[in-house]
Amino acid sequence: MFERVALIGIGLINSSIARVMKRDGLAGEIVIYSRRQSTLEKAMELGLAERAETDAAAAVKDADLVILGVPVGANAALAEAIGPSLMPGAIVTDVGSVKAAVIRDVAPHLPDGVHLVPGHPVAGTEHSGPEAGFADVFQDHWCILTPTEGCDPDAVEKIAEFWRRAGSTIDIMDAAHHDKVLAITSHLPQLIAYNIVGTVLDIEHVTKREVVKYAAGGFRDFTRIAASDPEMWRDVFLNNQEAVLEMLGRFTEDLAVLQRAIRWGDDKALEELFTRTRGIRRDLIDAKQI
Ligand code: NAP
Repeated sequence: MFERVALIGIGLINSSIARVMKRDGLAGEIVIYSRRQSTLEKAMELGLAERAETDAAAAVKDADLVILGVPVGANAALAEAIGPSLMPGAIVTDVGSVKAAVIRDVAPHLPDGVHLVPGHPVAGTEHSGPEAGFADVFQDHWCILTPTEGCDPDAVEKIAEFWRRAGSTIDIMDAAHHDKVLAITSHLPQLIAYNIVGTVLDIEHVTKREVVKYAAGGFRDFTRIAASDPEMWRDVFLNNQEAVLEMLGRFTEDLAVLQRAIRWGDDKALEELFTRTRGIRRDLIDAKQI
């Protein structure tokens, strides 16, 4: 599909992309860039690329596809660095968990004739780094593309086709809508996990030993989510501020209602909500999302 692919960042997601490309022979050559030499060395040992570069501009030279796979806050500086070295006709895509900020930060640095196709594979794990990736991670998951108006349809189709080969189903939507949907389905649950794990750590009359001992009571699932990469999630919240704050407002309002129901012994209100919420689990199972 591509002659030379430049992977900017070689963590969980881009290393999984490299594995898909190697498995299916989708790239003539893969060149990788990462911030730290040690990450590049690890990725080369894993056989993920033909060449490694510590200079992002050198990595994208003559690449027909460039994939940004770094925490979203790092995109602006990297786009500025690679912009002048991009080949005319090249496609630049990304895998970031927020989309409007990526368009804001990357698009201004791309020369005419280079196509930006923002993307977000809604798949992954709480692990990081090139060793954490695996080719099947995208299988049976959604990949959302958020092309801006005037984006070359052939470039969008080529990226869509890549994700289909990786096992994903494509949805196309506008970036602002993506950010709202993901704020409630992904970013807020992540924030709740960070918050509850933080609260547990700060409670004085429950010992760490007791927390570990009784984690199966529900806490364990939150610790998995809260173990995700701190830099990645810091950037998600800082770059999807508006949508996350809006959803957080709704969430705290609803939490206050629950708090009141518990205080006043409103058994009906509690049971009614807990019955309604059960249904969503069934929907997820039916949609093969679990
Ligand atoms: P990761 O495993 O933590 O890898 C991050 C990569 O970015 C590494 O190569 C790292 O370089 C590089 N990097 C970090 N900070 C940088 C900076 N300031 N400047 C330049 N390079 C930097 O990350 P990931 O999980 O693959 O996530 C990558 C992107 O995918 C993020 O935008 C995230 O929102 C998105 N995403 C993640 C998931 C998920 O489940 N993890 C799912 C969907 C989308 P060094 O190792 O050399 O420091």
